[in-house]
Formats: sequence, C-alpha cells, structure tokens
Amino acid sequence: MVRKFFVGGNWKCNGTAEEVKKIVTVLNEAEVPSEDVEFGIVILFEPHVTACNPSCDLGSLNLMHRLLFFFGSEVVVSPPFVFLPMVKGLLRPDFQVAAQNCWVRRGGAFTGEISAEMLLNVGIPWVILGHSERRSLLNESNEFVGDKVAYALSLGLKVIACIGETLQQRESGSTMAVVAAQTKAIAAKVSYWDNVVLAYEPVWAIGTGKVATPVQAQEVHLELRKWLHDNVGAEVAVSTRIIYGGSVTGANCKELAGQPDVDGFLVGGASLKPEFIDIIKSAT
Ligand code: PEP
Repeated sequence: MVRKFFVGGNWKCNGTAEEVKKIVTVLNEAEVPSEDVEFGIVILFEPHVTACNPSCDLGSLNLMHRLLFFFGSEVVVSPPFVFLPMVKGLLRPDFQVAAQNCWVRRGGAFTGEISAEMLLNVGIPWVILGHSERRSLLNESNEFVGDKVAYALSLGLKVIACIGETLQQRESGSTMAVVAAQTKAIAAKVSYWDNVVLAYEPVWAIGTGKVATPVQAQEVHLELRKWLHDNVGAEVAVSTRIIYGGSVTGANCKELAGQPDVDGFLVGGASLKPEFIDIIKSAT
C-alpha cells in the first residue's frame, strides 16, 4: 500500500445553507486531477517481510511508500452536522464527507450528541476525532479520544485522529512526549490502522496564521512515524498517513507537501475559500 496524499477541509462551526452550497459549487467546478487519472510507478511491497523483521530500516521502507508518482489526492470535506446530508448529496462523487465529531459509544440518552451509527446510517464515511478545539474547550482527554476512535473504527467509519502540542508544551521541549501520549492512547485501543489518518496539528498553529515551518512539521511527522514503528509495527508506520494541520494556505502548502513524511493536510480557515483547490493540488 502506498500513502495517497490526503486533504481534509474542516469547516468547523461556519456557514449558512447558502454559503455551504457556494463552497460546494467551487469544489464541484474545480479542475483537480481525480483518482480516475491516477497513474504511477507502483512498487510491490510485502507487509509480512517487515512484520517479521521489526529492525528493518524505516527510512528505506518510507521511501518505498512515497515512490509513487501520482495525480490526485483523497479529498474529504467536513461541514457542520446539520449540513452533512446536503453536502453529501451535492458534492462531486470523487470527494468524500466527514463529520467533525461523534459520540464515544452506541447512541442513546446523550442529549445533543450524534452517534457513529447515525453517521453511517446517512452514508457519512469519515469522522474527525480529537480536534484540539474539542480537547481544550470540551475537556476531551487522551483516553476519551482513544475510546472514540476505537468505537468509530469498530463500526466501519474512517477516522482523522488529531493530535498536537500547545505553544507552552513546545517551548518547554515536550512536543514529542505530548504527541506520543496522545497517539499511545489511541494505539492502546486500536489494532487496525488502515482506516486511520493521523493529523498532527500543533495547537499554536491552528487558526493563528502561524504555520509550522516545513522543517518543524517534518521533524514531528518523522518522530511520529518512528513512534508507530517502535510501538505499533513496521507496516503501520510506513502505511499510515500523517497529515499536517495549522494555518495551511494556498501560499505555504507546496513546500510543506514536499516533506517526505507530510502525507497531506487538515485545513481549517482556508478550506472555506477557493484557495483550498490549490491545497488539493499541492502534491502534484
Ligand atoms: C483545524 O482547525 O483543523 C485547522 C487546521 O485550522 P486552520 O487551518 O484554520 O489553522
């Protein structure tokens, strides 16, 4: 399996029905290379080789997974809950839709919540979980996020799992400890990673206009991949997409996309604007 470039648009709590329709129209009219025209050099990869050999060289395996010349990214947009069916109905078929959250267990007496079962019932394949705004404003703990990810996956949803450090944590040198603890809480509950995209979103970069430099992003992504290698497995480490989020724009996406361990983006503010199309195209 190769790591297909992934671009998510997190619309957060924004938009009226009319505004949402306008965004969908821009997406539908955009000329982006679709999965239909994907082509490339596919390198055969034998998972059992690495599974049996945990000491394999992560660098060379990583290169193998990136050695695919392709056109087309996997694109997933995430409108507010109330607009999900409308967006799903209007959106071009080569783009997909994600919810921005779901409940941690089976639905029931949980006023105000939306269950994973409901998302599947209305045909929503993806969900964003553990976004820093929910972690900080709604006190979602690492363990709670881990439980949510595990439950959503167990029903068949695909998950964009968000992790990331605050400015204070970065300045105190604990970035890797923080993101490792967040990832560990997910890994403790999850054994099947094919439907997980890990979104590294430094809190200090979200909605602030302060984007991580390509070097800063690559450094954390590589460390995360090593963490996955050492704590989950070689195959999961090379096949899991690790995307970056935090003030990505049409202007800065290309350089970030050029980093070997940056497999795409989760985009907030810029996903509401036409420049999102440039971000979708940034891997080509
Ligand atoms: C986000 O909220 O996931 C995000 C990355 O926001 P922004 O792009 O606006 O920083």
